Amino acid sequence: MEKKLLIGSHVAMNAPEYYLGSVKEALSYQANALMFYTGAPQNSFRKPLDELRIPEGRALLAANGIDENNIFVHAPYIINAANAGRPELLRQSIRTIVIELRRTAGFGAKALILHPGNHLKAGEDVAIETLAKSLNEIFEIDGTEVKIALETIAGKGTEIGKTFESLRKIIDLCRYPERLGICLDTCHLHDGGYDVTDVDALLKDFDEIIGLERLLVVHLNDSKNPRGAHKDRHENLGYGHIGFEALCKMANHPLLSAIPKILETPYINKKAPYAKEIQMLRDKKFIDGWKEEF
Ligand code: FE
Ligand code: FE
Ligand code: ZN
Repeated sequence: MEKKLLIGSHVAMNAPEYYLGSVKEALSYQANALMFYTGAPQNSFRKPLDELRIPEGRALLAANGIDENNIFVHAPYIINAANAGRPELLRQSIRTIVIELRRTAGFGAKALILHPGNHLKAGEDVAIETLAKSLNEIFEIDGTEVKIALETIAGKGTEIGKTFESLRKIIDLCRYPERLGICLDTCHLHDGGYDVTDVDALLKDFDEIIGLERLLVVHLNDSKNPRGAHKDRHENLGYGHIGFEALCKMANHPLLSAIPKILETPYINKKAPYAKEIQMLRDKKFIDGWKEEF
């Protein structure tokens, strides 16, 4: 029997239902995977876990047969654990990641997704070493078994982690490689210069440089910009420069059948597109003009 596609989206976590609401949102899209931030994405202010209705959310997951291996937390994006130029910010980033790993464990989720960071004026090699040191420190003290999934990034400004080779270096320099995995973001790969339309070649390249066993999750997004634009603007499936065919192939690729796919495509007229996008990926069929119905 063909394994059911593991697919979901980014979901919100808001008062008053918090995690229970996040799980309900995912179920409303027929999802069996999900990703959320444990607070606002743009800051590290966080509500205590016991206010977030976690047991109710977890019970609802269990009742619907959703495996917590398919649940991911995204770290806030203000973090930069790769730049030693401003020591107080580096300390703050390390502290925030430790807290987020413990919070991720508190949800029973599998991994924390982290953008590798920015080198600012230091250069990529120095930043990679700084990040590896930060990760060593984090894994020494956090006391969890939660993995960090380093996300491939579009290469805006001085972002590090655009290439498979650079991510490989981070893993090699870290003393706890067993705690590290990868999140492949299709929009970021494409904007960073990779040809995402040749899925087999892309996965072969990834396997040779990093190893498919490191892959923890795929962010499935179309891109508003041409390949190599270094922009990072997500588009709805089939409306961007990657196209539905390649994204659908990626979603349903036999080598990735055990890997959850998470949509981070934009809302349309303030409405979430995910139920429709998930349905098209499961049916392996693009519905012409689907976006116009929103
Ligand atoms: Fe991300
Ligand atoms: Fe992403
Ligand atoms: Zn992005």
